[in-house]
Formats: sequence, C-alpha cells, structure tokens
Amino acid sequence: MIVSHFNSDLYCIGIHNPVRERSVEQIYRMIRERLKKPFFLSSGQELTITVSVGVAEYPEAAQSALELINCAEIVMFKAKGAGKDSMQYFDVPILDEFLQKIDIENKLKEAIFHENFVMYFQPQYHVEDKKLRGVEALIRWKDDDGQMISPAVFIPIAEKNGTIVSIGTWVIEESIRIYAGWKAKYHASLILSINVSAIQYKRPNFVSKLMAIVEKYGVEPSEVELEITESILIDDFVEMTNKLAILKDYGFRISLDDFGTGYSSLSYLKGLPINTLKIDKSFIDTVISDSNTKIITEAIIYMVKKLGYETVAEGVETQEQYEYLKSIECDNIQGYFLGKPMPAKDVEELLK
Ligand code: C2E
Ligand code: CA
Ligand code: CA
Repeated sequence: MIVSHFNSDLYCIGIHNPVRERSVEQIYRMIRERLKKPFFLSSGQELTITVSVGVAEYPEAAQSALELINCAEIVMFKAKGAGKDSMQYFDVPILDEFLQKIDIENKLKEAIFHENFVMYFQPQYHVEDKKLRGVEALIRWKDDDGQMISPAVFIPIAEKNGTIVSIGTWVIEESIRIYAGWKAKYHASLILSINVSAIQYKRPNFVSKLMAIVEKYGVEPSEVELEITESILIDDFVEMTNKLAILKDYGFRISLDDFGTGYSSLSYLKGLPINTLKIDKSFIDTVISDSNTKIITEAIIYMVKKLGYETVAEGVETQEQYEYLKSIECDNIQGYFLGKPMPAKDVEELLK
C-alpha cells in the first residue's frame, strides 16, 4: 500500500492486490474510525472532519496509473456531492455523466461567444377572464447540430462555473429588446417576467446594469417582473432583501419563483418586498389527486393573498386543474393548458 499527499486536502492511496483486512472497505472503515474522534487545536477549539473516498479498480476502470487516479478523483467528487463522508466506486455511468458535463461546459463557452441562444416566451393568464397577463422569458440554447438544449441542463452548469452572469445579462437585454418591439408595434402593456439567478443577482452592479437596459429600450420598470428564488436570500438575508427593496423602489416587480420546493417558510414571507408568488408545478401536478396537497395549496393561496401578493400557479396542464384553481381564487396561471413556451413571433400572434 502506498499513501501519498497530493495537494491541500487530497490524498491518494494505492493498494496492490487488496485482500482480507487490507481490503478497500476495511481501510475506509479504519480511516473513518480514526476521523470520528475530534481533533483539538492548541487554542482548545474542537475540529471534526469528514472524508470522501473515490475508488477506481484496475483493470475495470482504467489501464494506467494516471487514468486510475483520474477516475478515482471523478468519483471522489461524486461522493463529496452526495453529502460527503461516504465512499463511491467508479462506474461507467458516472464517467459518462462527468464527460457529458465537461462537453456541455466546453460547448457552453462557445455558445456564449457566438450568442447561440434564443428567447422563448410562455404566456401567463388571469384566471378570471383568461386574459393575457404577461409572458415569462425562458432561454433556449441551439446547439451546433441544431439541437435544442434545455435550460434545465445547462443553467445549473452555468451557475456553477459563473458563466450565468454573462448569459443572464444577455437574457435581460434580449427579452427587454423584444418586449420593447412588441410595445411599439402593438401598444401592448404586459408584464415581462425574467428569471434571475442568485449569482447574477448578487453582483454589486446588478441594479445599475438592469436600469441601464430598461432606459436604453424605453421600458418602464413596472413592466418588468424579476423572478427570484429563495436561494438568493440564504447567505445574507438582510443585504439581499435590501436589494429587493431598492429594485421595488425603482418600480420593478418581484416574483418569488418555485415556492414550495425549498424551505418555503411562511414566516419570512411577511417581510419580503415582493409582488407575486409562484406556486411550484409539483403542487399543481398532484393538487387534484392528493387531498393533502389540496389543503396546503389552498392554505398558501389564502395566506399569500392576505399578505397582499398576487399568485401564479405554474405547470397547469388540464381544464380540471384550471377550474379548481379558479374555484380557490388563484389569480393567474401558466402552463401547457393555455400555452407552451413559444418563439417571439408566436407571441406577436397573441398580441394581434
Ligand atoms: P422555471 O422558472 O420554473 O420555468 C418553468 C419551466 O416549466 C419551463 O421549463 C417551462 O417550459 C416549464 N413548463 C411550463 N408550463 C409547463 C407545463 O404545463 N408542464 C410542464 N411539464 N412543464 C411546464 P424550461 O423553459 O425548460 O426552464 C427550466 C428552468 O430553467 C426554469 O424553470 C428556470 O429555472 C431556468 N431558466 C430558464 N430560462 C432561464 C433564464 O433566462 N435565466 C435563468 N437564470 N434561468 C432560466
Ligand atoms: Ca421562473
Ligand atoms: Ca418556477
């Protein structure tokens, strides 16, 4: 057995012919056993550490030592991602997932350079009269092969590597530019909802950039609704809510997206400077079939309305869901039932 220190908190253990008490599992158990006991710093401070282990075996995983180490490292990150303090064996699906991610990451950099994105828009309707309330801007990435890549795949990657900031700025400018065109042509006054990622929102120049864009295209801030998720509030609640208040003072509308998927505490809602709350699709999916979901959805809508916020139900797919949401006085709906995300020219058909 060879133990070596690679860098910072990274170690490599090479085991030749792992058998009996020197088997991989046994060694892992011994490491964990030792790390269970806390360490004490000279200041008296107690320190506990966890260990994430990735295992790659010769010859199944790879043929050379360097490749084995790479494979072990890939699955080690997988173990780390899965809540740390665990061991993960190398297998082909993990490698494929990793390679696909790298591939998307590389292509994404190209796509940003060439601006290979298009904006789609999904209509939102008032429940009462089915009149158009506004549209949500949703990005689409057109791959070189003409394939559309879903934002659900690449936005999380862009958030991790920071490219979301430039993508997000492009989204804001492009959707406001298109919206300004509709305004001029159809004298339409709608609400344009734009998704904003936490990293993008946290940038110090976020507000000034946004202001510069609305001014450039002659759009009123009150026509723009920023869709944020509660993840922006987690690190620094006070500073981040202050920023929301500044945006609201400028006249922007704020919408809390995906409500019901995270902590979704009703107690923090009361002090939040928002206008709209979007009830996540996962509630709408089961609201007809599951009585508990029904109770929760009704309670949320009742309370949110009392707090003075508008409600939007997401992912409404059926007439039955629509009728039900109408009966419990949800204000607006968005979903395949009344309209899928569509290119800008199709929105023009609606505006005509
Ligand atoms: P989201 O903000 O929750 O957007 C709603 C997603 O649900 C969209 O998927 C939409 O196409 C889909 N959807 C709407 N109605 C229905 C329905 O009735 N049934 C079903 N099955 N799906 C429905 P999409 O466009 O793939 O976007 C996925 C996510 O990607 C978005 O979720 C949002 O979090 C993110 N995203 C999209 N565009 C942007 C963007 O410009 N910036 C940022 N930061 N994130 C974006
Ligand atoms: Ca959204
Ligand atoms: Ca959502």
